[in-house]
Amino acid sequence: MMKIAAAAPGRRPYALVWALVVALVLGLALAVTALLWSQRNAQLAEAEAQLGRFATGAEVGMNRALLALDVLLATLEQVVPAAEATDAPVSTQLLAAMARQNLMVREVALLDGQGTPVLVPVPGASMQVPPDFVAAALAPAVPMLVVSNPLVSSRSAERVLYVARALRAPGGGRWLAVAQVPVDALVAVLLQGMPLTGAEVTLERGRGDLLVGLAPAQGLVEGEGASGPPLARVALEGGLPSWHGSTRLLSTPGLVAMRPLMYEDLWVTASLPREAALADWSVQSQLIIGAALALGLTMVAAGVLATVHLRRMHRARAVVAQSKALLDEALGAMLSGFMLLDAQGNVVQWNQRFEEFFPWLAGVVRPGVSFQRVLQTTVHYHLPGASPEDKRAWVEERLRRHGSASGTLEQRLPSGRHVQVIEQPTPDGGLVILYHDLTELRRATAEVEHLAFYDPLTGLPNRRLLLERIEQACVASQRAGSHGAVLFIDLDHFKTLNDTLGHETGDELLRQVARRLEAGVRAGDLVARLGGDEFVVMLLDLAGDVPTATVQARTVAEQIVALLARPYSLTGQLHHGGASLGVTLFGAEVQTASEVLKQADIAMYEAKARSGNGLCFFDPSMQVALSERARLLADLKRALPAEQFVLHLQPQLDNQGQVAGAEALLRWQHPERGLVPPGQFIAVAEDSELIVPIGRWVLESACRMLARWQDDPALRELCLSVNVSARQFRQPDFVDLVLSSLAASGARAHRLELELTESLVLEDVDDSIAKMHRLRTRGVRFAVDDFGTGYSSLAYLTRLPLQRLKIDRSFVQHLGESHSDDVVVQTILGMARNLALDVVAEGVETQQQCDFLAVHGCEVYQGYLFARPMPVGEFEEYVKGRAR
Ligand code: C2E
Ligand code: MG
Ligand code: MG
Repeated sequence: MMKIAAAAPGRRPYALVWALVVALVLGLALAVTALLWSQRNAQLAEAEAQLGRFATGAEVGMNRALLALDVLLATLEQVVPAAEATDAPVSTQLLAAMARQNLMVREVALLDGQGTPVLVPVPGASMQVPPDFVAAALAPAVPMLVVSNPLVSSRSAERVLYVARALRAPGGGRWLAVAQVPVDALVAVLLQGMPLTGAEVTLERGRGDLLVGLAPAQGLVEGEGASGPPLARVALEGGLPSWHGSTRLLSTPGLVAMRPLMYEDLWVTASLPREAALADWSVQSQLIIGAALALGLTMVAAGVLATVHLRRMHRARAVVAQSKALLDEALGAMLSGFMLLDAQGNVVQWNQRFEEFFPWLAGVVRPGVSFQRVLQTTVHYHLPGASPEDKRAWVEERLRRHGSASGTLEQRLPSGRHVQVIEQPTPDGGLVILYHDLTELRRATAEVEHLAFYDPLTGLPNRRLLLERIEQACVASQRAGSHGAVLFIDLDHFKTLNDTLGHETGDELLRQVARRLEAGVRAGDLVARLGGDEFVVMLLDLAGDVPTATVQARTVAEQIVALLARPYSLTGQLHHGGASLGVTLFGAEVQTASEVLKQADIAMYEAKARSGNGLCFFDPSMQVALSERARLLADLKRALPAEQFVLHLQPQLDNQGQVAGAEALLRWQHPERGLVPPGQFIAVAEDSELIVPIGRWVLESACRMLARWQDDPALRELCLSVNVSARQFRQPDFVDLVLSSLAASGARAHRLELELTESLVLEDVDDSIAKMHRLRTRGVRFAVDDFGTGYSSLAYLTRLPLQRLKIDRSFVQHLGESHSDDVVVQTILGMARNLALDVVAEGVETQQQCDFLAVHGCEVYQGYLFARPMPVGEFEEYVKGRAR
């Protein structure tokens, strides 16, 4: 059986998705980082190049400006002669004109070796040139342009620089041409009109003195020196024209480019803070990072979506798998085989049971294989001996059924199983085939059939099958002009054996009888059991003429009687039993089976009536008697409700001729037949159980009578005898019935005598004794009726609580004529005396009989000699008449 797996989500697909997402995000980060890095480097390189160009521009501009100043100062040498001639106005004008040639120059002066102005542009004006600068400017051996440190002009209050150049003074000394240049004028030169955004620019000396410093937000920067290493040292150490370090003015990290000017110890620098260099890059990088973040987030979102999707897919798959597992389980658990075909007739699915039914299909059945192929394999096992044509036809026939797939068919498998095949089309044009195992059902049906027609105990055919066979045999015999015979067999005393030795022994006897009967007839004949101890043998193919057929049937019947009379071994003991046979012939005329059986039954009944263990052929007169009996029974059933019964009383007299009691004798006042004596109906009543209610009526009537007699002094002492039949006595509530009748009527129990026959008492001695004792203790008396006819053992009589024996009429009748009867009667009387029992002689008709009885000790007499049975009123008159 398939098990349903718990739907645990698989981790693998999710891990893959997330690994992919992480890889992509990492890749993106790496790419972005690489891009940003390279862009940064490019930007820095670009900035460096730009800075370099810018520095070069500043260098060129500065060189040019200084050169112009240098030239201007050098040209002042032309003014020297004039100055010496102290042609002041000319010189001054010349000076001013020359000064005007250079727009950067604010003032120009000509100083002597001590710094004293020789010539100034404005007469009387002085130029505040620091003395050390004068000395420094005159110091070089070769005249050259010297630049002072910045200082604030006392006249204009602006920052200025002085540039000076030694001139040959007249007379061989040295004068100094000095020009005052506002720092602002140098700024324009340094920036060349197109400043680099964010760049710092300096003009400085090699040892670090800052001549001009320009910072982006601050404008001109005043200070002693630039930050960072002195440029002369950088150059000395072989430094590069540009490097990464701190900016020269604000000391922020950045790029620095330096350029030496053509004048000794003057340097131009341009430095760009890294922040400024990377300004564009940082904007770009923010955009790129933003875009990358967006992309990364998109990837993560895609991962989440993929996970959700995968989970949903997984759940859906799990649901489908679970449904399939459930279906598989359901199919596996099916008691029936199952196969599903698609519209093309190919196998889609089947279950375990199917494989159990058709084990040979183990390797053949698989999804997609055609059902035709399945059938082709199957047919070899279904019709192993059939020709190839037959096999092909079988397969085609089975496939043709699919065309009109509906209904069922039944197959018997080689394993012996019965399978019902039900085919039903599916909506998509396929076919569902179900295989139900009907083996048990078929077996049960066969069993039921067997039970319906066979007797479970002996295995012989039962009444139903027998009647069927007799019916067939009647028709066949008529056609063939032959005879058949039915032998109706009833075991003698079977009931006694069953009651005394038990039902199992009884069953064993029945089985042995069945085997003997089967062995005793020809193969074509039939032995059946009707039930109880009744068997029937049907003989076939007897002669066409009745006498010969009768002889043939009799021969077999006699053999059977002899066969069944042989002793049986039952539970280790030998049992002697016999049987009564009724025989009838059939075939001469049209008859139904039940008629034939009835005739044999009647004949058997007759055989039994003739004291058993013999056989009797059916005679139509038997049928008449039987019909008469049936009519009587029908009338008898109506008698009690119609109050047609009356009690007659026959007196019993003692030796003094006094009435001692009476026997109640039943009479049936029939509307047509008149007064019917009990001999004509008691047996029928006993056979039909009608005796039970009739007996109750007799008992109750007798008790009421006794009760009534109590009030009459003439009748008070009388004893009343009531006959009890065997079936009545065997009723479980018999004792209660007697006691309740006594109680209800108020009769005295010791005035009631119940007459039982010997055979009744001996049928079940223990039950008889128990019932008699219970009633005896209440005072009820018991007499054995018809004593002497039952060959009863005296030993039994001593065990019974008896008061009286009634000598049977048959012995009394022949007293004095039959010696044996005389002896029997004498013996009974003697025995009764010994056992202290009273004796009543029945059927006393003659005085001779009476005398004989009296001589031998009899004390009470009943018979026609004294009185016949008479109606109650008459009896009472009779009693009173005799008393008088
Ligand atoms: P039983 O009990 O032996 O009764 C005596 C029978 O002998 C009576 O016949 C009676 O009429 C008859 N009988 C009496 N004296 C003479 C005589 O001198 N000569 C001749 N030939 N017969 C005489 P009945 O009344 O025809 O009864 C026949 C049997 O029917 C009884 O035999 C008894 O067995 C049975 N019977 C009668 N009444 C009842 C009854 O109420 N219940 C049952 N279960 N059986 C009854
Ligand atoms: Mg009697
Ligand atoms: Mg009798």
